[in-house]
Amino acid sequence: MKWQGKGVSEGLAMAQIHLFTPKLPEISRQPAADAEAEVAKLEATLAAAEEELRGLYETAKEKMGEQEAEIFDAHLTILGDEYSVREPIIQRIREQKQNAAAAITDQFDELAQMFRSLGDELMAERAADAEDLKQQLLRICLGCGRQDLSVLPGDVIVLAEELTPSDTVRMDTAHVKGIATRLGGATAHSAIIARTLGIPAAAGIDGWQTEALNGHMAILDGADGTLTVDPTDDETACYQSRKAQADCEAQALEAFRTCPSQTKDGISLEICANIGTPQEAQQAMKYGADGVGLFRSEFLFMDRDALPTEDEQFEAYRTAAQTMAGKPLIIRTLDVGGDKKLPTLELPHEDNPFLGFRAIRMTLSHPEIFRPQLRAILRAAAYGDVRVMFPMIGSMDQLREAKALLREQEQTLQAEGVPTGPVKVGMMVEIPAAAVLAEEFAKEVDFFSIGTNDLTQYTLAVERGNAAVAHLYAPEHPAVLRLIAMTAQAAAERHIPCGMCGEAAGDPKLAPAFVGMGVNELSMSPRRVPAVRKLLSGLTMDECRQAAEKLLHP
Ligand code: PEP
Ligand code: MG
Repeated sequence: MKWQGKGVSEGLAMAQIHLFTPKLPEISRQPAADAEAEVAKLEATLAAAEEELRGLYETAKEKMGEQEAEIFDAHLTILGDEYSVREPIIQRIREQKQNAAAAITDQFDELAQMFRSLGDELMAERAADAEDLKQQLLRICLGCGRQDLSVLPGDVIVLAEELTPSDTVRMDTAHVKGIATRLGGATAHSAIIARTLGIPAAAGIDGWQTEALNGHMAILDGADGTLTVDPTDDETACYQSRKAQADCEAQALEAFRTCPSQTKDGISLEICANIGTPQEAQQAMKYGADGVGLFRSEFLFMDRDALPTEDEQFEAYRTAAQTMAGKPLIIRTLDVGGDKKLPTLELPHEDNPFLGFRAIRMTLSHPEIFRPQLRAILRAAAYGDVRVMFPMIGSMDQLREAKALLREQEQTLQAEGVPTGPVKVGMMVEIPAAAVLAEEFAKEVDFFSIGTNDLTQYTLAVERGNAAVAHLYAPEHPAVLRLIAMTAQAAAERHIPCGMCGEAAGDPKLAPAFVGMGVNELSMSPRRVPAVRKLLSGLTMDECRQAAEKLLHP
């Protein structure tokens, strides 16, 4: 029997199925006989839930690090929101005479519905958080014991409708070999946690209502998203040989976390990581990145009610710089607009946001946002090798204006007696105009970093992320590649490093060709670092040049 879902965390597992179906009793709709007693029950429930969440936060932090633990912080924030949680529930009890459990159910259903109606992915996650919290509160309120995955009979593949973040954190990770769920997708918290822990997982495994699956042997493939129940001898043999090969490859990659990045003939390279939060710098170090080639600072600005202050930003950049322990940390200044909106900044509607008021165009017009960020970066530079990079540079004037603002802030900080550090200045090459004028730009900056995600969309006039034209989106298009080659050549002539931080940098089909063109730093998701380092260590520079030639002139 084979089910086809969607792979959300790579890897192979074979173990018995453990059906996880936590069920709560029906919620009684009996009106509250004594409203104040129900209010007291609610207060006790909220207090117990808060304590439980604090415990979960600590466990998650210990098992998976601070970033993954943040989900419980988010739950605590929702729980502590008087206006959305405590007060309206009390109102339902006192005014509508609902019992505590019914009032909790209705209020959280309304909250989840409200989040869902806002329609974006982040808000959909908030809705899932509200659902998770509701289950937790009801379990406590109704005095039900917890069915969880912390004690398991042995090695298992967990099969569930859906796993909440708290289910995932409580899980006995030594025995969970795989996770298969009906709901959820690659961005669901449980999938993110599974990837962090390296547990194979698939979502969208549908049509298995039967309890009869419990205890059956199964094979889970977290790459292609299949779950094979009661495998045949042939399927088992195939699994065993694939698993042995995958283990062998993973073992071989281990060594590439720590060895130097270089081609087979000893030409030094830098294989770096892209991050979005200071905590992710830990991942960069874990996978042995030579530095952070792109810190997308906009993530510090999103999903919050007010802009981060200079001090808040300074703390974030300093944390990342200290984590990188002397390795380079390239912080890209705020890149919002396009598909990234800031809830705190009301900007007029644009028909073509990717061609509009985005990135450096926006920050240069909003010095009250740009200055504090530049100050925070300069201050963090006292704690490590911090570099700054400007996104979406399309003209020399923009670059000069941004640099002037940076120098002005450096002088101001020095006059104020605030410690700063030397900051190298780079620019993203992601607009074709910048690539065409790379020779001129190379005289003005300390380094380039090629943003293939945008360079591809602007060169080919194919919107990134638009499914209707996805088949036309091709970083390997010779026109894109020739712009990359021109940029790398201009950098080489001026003896400045040329990096690349778009998705294509971590693509094994393209990375050797980029190196052959003269790109000497590739920055990618932290997990990809060892594999790309291994790939390049097996090729000489000549072989990389040949790969480049083939693609540039197909
Ligand atoms: C790019 O455009 O390639 C890039 C790295 O920037 P972003 O994806 O954040 O636009
Ligand atoms: Mg970009």
